[in-house]
Amino acid sequence: MLPAFLDSLVELISRTSTDLPPDVRAAMRTAVQAEAPGTRAGQALTIIAQNIDQAAACEGPICQDTGMPTFEVKVPVGANQIVLKQQIREAVAEATRRGKLRPNSVDSITGENSGNNLGPGTPIIHFEQWEEPEIEVRLILKGGGCENTNAQYALPAELDHLGRADRSLEGVRKAVLHAVWKAQGKGCSPGAVGVCIGGDRTSGYLHAKEQLFRTLDDTNPDPRLASLEDAIMDEANRLGVGPMGFSGGTSLIGCKIGALNRLPASFFVSVAYDCWAFRRLGVRLDATSGAITSWMYRDGTAPAEPMLPADVVAAGFPTTGREVPLHAPISEEQIRSLKVGDVVLVSGRVFTGRDAVHAHLMKHAPPVDLSGAVLYHCGPVVAKEGDGWRITAAGPTTSIREEPYQAEILRRYGVRVVIGKGGMGAETLAGLEESGAVYLNAIGGAAQFYARCIERVDGVSLTEFGTPEAMWHLQVRDFPAIVTMDAHGNSLHRDVEAESGRRLATLAER
Ligand code: SF4
Repeated sequence: MLPAFLDSLVELISRTSTDLPPDVRAAMRTAVQAEAPGTRAGQALTIIAQNIDQAAACEGPICQDTGMPTFEVKVPVGANQIVLKQQIREAVAEATRRGKLRPNSVDSITGENSGNNLGPGTPIIHFEQWEEPEIEVRLILKGGGCENTNAQYALPAELDHLGRADRSLEGVRKAVLHAVWKAQGKGCSPGAVGVCIGGDRTSGYLHAKEQLFRTLDDTNPDPRLASLEDAIMDEANRLGVGPMGFSGGTSLIGCKIGALNRLPASFFVSVAYDCWAFRRLGVRLDATSGAITSWMYRDGTAPAEPMLPADVVAAGFPTTGREVPLHAPISEEQIRSLKVGDVVLVSGRVFTGRDAVHAHLMKHAPPVDLSGAVLYHCGPVVAKEGDGWRITAAGPTTSIREEPYQAEILRRYGVRVVIGKGGMGAETLAGLEESGAVYLNAIGGAAQFYARCIERVDGVSLTEFGTPEAMWHLQVRDFPAIVTMDAHGNSLHRDVEAESGRRLATLAER
């Protein structure tokens, strides 16, 4: 037994969930400086930077989606992997109990949430033996929004705007650019991509994810891949997707490429997309006690450099005076006066609802009156306090998953405002126009920032779906978001996708 191993792992998980590593902070600081203040991209990045500092200060989750815990463990010969695995699982359950991880492990057949992040396949733990005397544990928490934007290409392939991608490094370049373009803001850009050239379908994705354990500022030891990484960084940032898909000059903060041998008949390019909330840390542990001897990716003896001065973080959302206040319940007339690009400050009652709630509302009447209501695509982290609850992390989730339901729910129940991230499709856009509703894009991952806009929890419905999927009744004040789809048929997401597609086409040949 290693007496300190469990506590060390709880510390690793907690720190990873709440404190971004210095290399990611540095890349995000560069992004903040690159986007002009007052632009949509600039405002989004300011909120993200505030959120990073708030999470570190309160030791709360950076994003409410604390992702799929994936551990890469190296052990000396003779270490008991059965015991270590059991203790890692206990540490995951303990970190969940402490609110550092959201209960995220769902039975794929029944939909039931295990409540402690344990279940078949969760967490993911990979062991490897090495000839060092210590144990090394590295952890990445990669959320569902960015995981859903992963992509795998079998070359040769015909790609939108880019034409044929052949079995060559040039074809790889096209595939990765295509993946970044396709992701738009859905994976909470600016993001980073880990890429694997080759392997088979499973080893390719695994190796792509492993590239995300490299630091963003390292240089690929293979000069051919180093030059490809540089080219993709430059070109991806010329697409104009921008932070949260709002357009802008920063779409990617990292591109890390590895290669595996392949079968002669296959040529896969696997792309693992990670969001700006790029949570990855590691520790070295004494192999007899399990105590942490050193940290990886961060200086374990000093706090990380803040993203912003403390008074800027304390000041909250940087208003310009042009923001439109909206107080729920909201009238159709007020909604029809809004247009794409307006920044609004929402106050009053907001109901959360994501996948399970949307599916439920297609078959059952809502448990609350949704007329004039604000529906927030969000699966919060919630702490029970006495007879009530406190929301400890509450950023938006990816809205496109609700595309099959949204227009019908607007039509049936009179919802006036949908808040989420990443935008929605043509059917919802038509539904907004028909029903007199708008879609507001909040800043993905800004879970601490938005939790501070929630004054209290007034109730909860549909708790049988588990904490993230239940319908929470929130009282919010001055919750900032941007109108990205209005009631007049306009969509910023559609426009940015089309414009970035045109730019992608200019990168077809080099
Ligand atoms: S920042 Fe966005 S993509 Fe990343 S985990 Fe959070 S919600 Fe998901």
